[in-house]
Amino acid sequence: MRIGCPKEIKNHEYRVGLTPESSGELVHRGNEVWIESGAGNGIGASDDQYRMAGAKIVDGPDLIFAECEMVVKVKEPQAVERAKLRRDQILYTYLHLAPDADQTRELVASGVTAIAYETVTGPNGTLPLLKPMSQVAGRMSIQAGATALEKAHGGRGVLLGGVPGVLPAKVTVIGGGVVGFNAAQMAVGLGADVTILDRDPEVLEKLGIHFESRAKTRFSNKANLEEEVCKADLIIGAVLIPGAAAPKLISREMLKSMQPGSVLVDVAIDQGGCFETSRATTHADPTYIIDDVVHYCVANMPGAVARTSTYALNNVTLPHALRIARMGWQGALAADPHLAEGLNVHAGEVTYEAVATELGYAY
Ligand code: NAD
Repeated sequence: MRIGCPKEIKNHEYRVGLTPESSGELVHRGNEVWIESGAGNGIGASDDQYRMAGAKIVDGPDLIFAECEMVVKVKEPQAVERAKLRRDQILYTYLHLAPDADQTRELVASGVTAIAYETVTGPNGTLPLLKPMSQVAGRMSIQAGATALEKAHGGRGVLLGGVPGVLPAKVTVIGGGVVGFNAAQMAVGLGADVTILDRDPEVLEKLGIHFESRAKTRFSNKANLEEEVCKADLIIGAVLIPGAAAPKLISREMLKSMQPGSVLVDVAIDQGGCFETSRATTHADPTYIIDDVVHYCVANMPGAVARTSTYALNNVTLPHALRIARMGWQGALAADPHLAEGLNVHAGEVTYEAVATELGYAY
């Protein structure tokens, strides 16, 4: 199969759909790989590295969209890219169609076969192609929080791990799923005093078994949250209620009970945020202060560590890409019901029920 990877054009997107190593794997298995010149710049991968892996470098995106049977990307195609998509072509990328009527309409009109990373499932209803980004955001949340705790950034001047003779910072993680688990791992590793709250007893049990005495676990209810919030130096918001906006677990009123200079990192901001005072920020200006509490609410945290994020994403997207290349999309989807869940648009129709229902398409 001829597989193409254009340079991402969404504002501040530095990731790339295929690493040189992934390109090499595809070439090794008899495929042709075309990479847009400069596509790997944002992760420090040069055209020469792709060439050495056996890929062909092409100038600009047009040839890729015109000639390749499968286009591999990271972000949803932008309007100028959508105009280049065509029938009998596979698009394999993050799409997030439900809230995006324009994109859906244009993908349908193009006739393309669009497989969305975010709806490919794994065992037990997991979303394995979303997981690495939650891992990245969870781990980054502690770095971001540690920086925000510094005086120069408005924080209370506390070092997460303390030093011998001085107590470590108190870190409270609300939500013990993928983001929360990874945040807690980093905070524990730095020597902080960590408490994780979740409302799912099974999640609490797993966390308890994993962390043993290195982190405390606590059931998430209003009373327990109020007690934890006023003591914390750093709070990580990592809750998710699938398909719903994040619940507001820290109210404006509760903020007043927090210590001046303490920090809120709202990772759930992409679902509206789990603190009442959260509003989305950018990497260029990531924090703001309300009632002496520093807020960090960047909606695309993994973008800041584009190289790590690209490699983490490729680890989970490449096996499916290899299978699609080997078997064709029909064969690959027939062989793997989890991959079949990724099909969102095909030959002028919306093929994913939740998107069709949300946007009023026949299903
Ligand atoms: P997850 O499903 O693995 O975990 C969510 C956890 O929240 C679950 O364990 C659930 O039991 C718990 N929860 C639900 N309601 C709760 C409550 N009231 N109190 C305490 N816990 C509660 O989800 P995840 O992958 O960890 O993602 C968490 C959030 O982070 C999502 O909104 C996701 O979209 C977001 N995210 C943001 C970025 C970013 O760049 N900002 C990146 C990746 C993920």
